[in-house]
Amino acid sequence: MNITQILHSYGEDGFSYSPVSVPIYETSIFSFKNFEEFQNSLLNEFESHLYTRGKNPTAEVVEKKIAALEKAEDAKLFASGVAAISAATMAFLKSGDHVVCVKDAYGWTLRLFSQYLKRFGVEVTFVEGIDPGDFIKATRKNTKLFFLESPTTFTFQLQDLSAIAKFAKENKIKTVIDNTWATPVFQNPIPLGIDLVVHSASKYIGGHSDVVAGVVVGSREDIRHIFNTEFMNIGATIGPFEAWLLLRGLRTLHIRMQRHMENTLKVIEYLQTVPEVSEIYYPFYAKHQQYELAKKQMKGGSGLLSIKLKVNSLEEIIAFTNAFRVFRIAVSWGGYESLVMPHAATNRDGLTERNKIVRLHIGLEDPNLLIDDLERAFQAMRKVRP
Ligand SMILES: *Cc1c(COP(=O)(O)O)cnc(C)c1O
Repeated sequence: MNITQILHSYGEDGFSYSPVSVPIYETSIFSFKNFEEFQNSLLNEFESHLYTRGKNPTAEVVEKKIAALEKAEDAKLFASGVAAISAATMAFLKSGDHVVCVKDAYGWTLRLFSQYLKRFGVEVTFVEGIDPGDFIKATRKNTKLFFLESPTTFTFQLQDLSAIAKFAKENKIKTVIDNTWATPVFQNPIPLGIDLVVHSASKYIGGHSDVVAGVVVGSREDIRHIFNTEFMNIGATIGPFEAWLLLRGLRTLHIRMQRHMENTLKVIEYLQTVPEVSEIYYPFYAKHQQYELAKKQMKGGSGLLSIKLKVNSLEEIIAFTNAFRVFRIAVSWGGYESLVMPHAATNRDGLTERNKIVRLHIGLEDPNLLIDDLERAFQAMRKVRP
């Protein structure tokens, strides 16, 4: 199936009146003609419309599309990316198990393993993951799950998905990857051997900074297992309206991703000329240390990158941040708009090496507007240089 067929029509049959826009099924319950139908539904909630905590027709359309985009059998939407990550991992873990996780993964993923699951007797080893050997060396007899995030979304380090998946399969270890950055448009980990893909749909899938949501993608068997365990019990269900917002976002996902990439490459061309930029972290920047791997396992790059500033004081970073007029100061990313996130704002540690890193989200604006805005920020920074 072609990507536009998936995004424009796939999974949308069967609604009365042939609507072009899928209806929002704002209902908590579904009713039945008789005892027998009711009983069948109660005994197989995974496959029937009984209650919106389990299944809702608006959400289902989005689930079908995302599964198709990821070349997978099934998908399940969640109320947030973090809910999706928690369910996809906890469904396969029990007390005494061990997890290997990428060290630079999303903050709440790190907390899930280092603090939350620790309370339930699950152990974790964090690894850099650039070398597949990092995962192999960290594996123990009780290792049940590898958690990947490729690329990571602060320093943009990649993991070799095929190599890690191969080792995991041979050792019966479940593999889960956070694929939020690349989106299903640019990276499909399941054909490379990864078991489960999670996304924060609050980012590019939603695409308009107006919804918090998540999704888990995988085999029908794994999704059924997650449904019958963490999904129904934790109950972090997406609402029908939020699911519909994702559907609206999906209509243009492929077009937006193309533009995010084009804009980002133009901004990088400019950033390369700025003497105060000591490093550019972006997998499709030709000088990235894993550029070849990026090209091998991804079709393109999205709009999120980091830069390291050559600065001698925190004041320079503050002046840089405060000078923007187009880029907005905010967490998250993946919307139509450009954002700036100085790592120094996340702590009070002063001018550490890590605090010299500033994360930028390149939105869908005219790239010249963004370059002018960056130039304004660098000039403001130079003015306060000690
Ligand atoms: C935002 C984000 C998450 C968490 O998703 P929420 O929708 O905010 O719960 C997970 N992973 C990555 C890489 C993210 O950027």
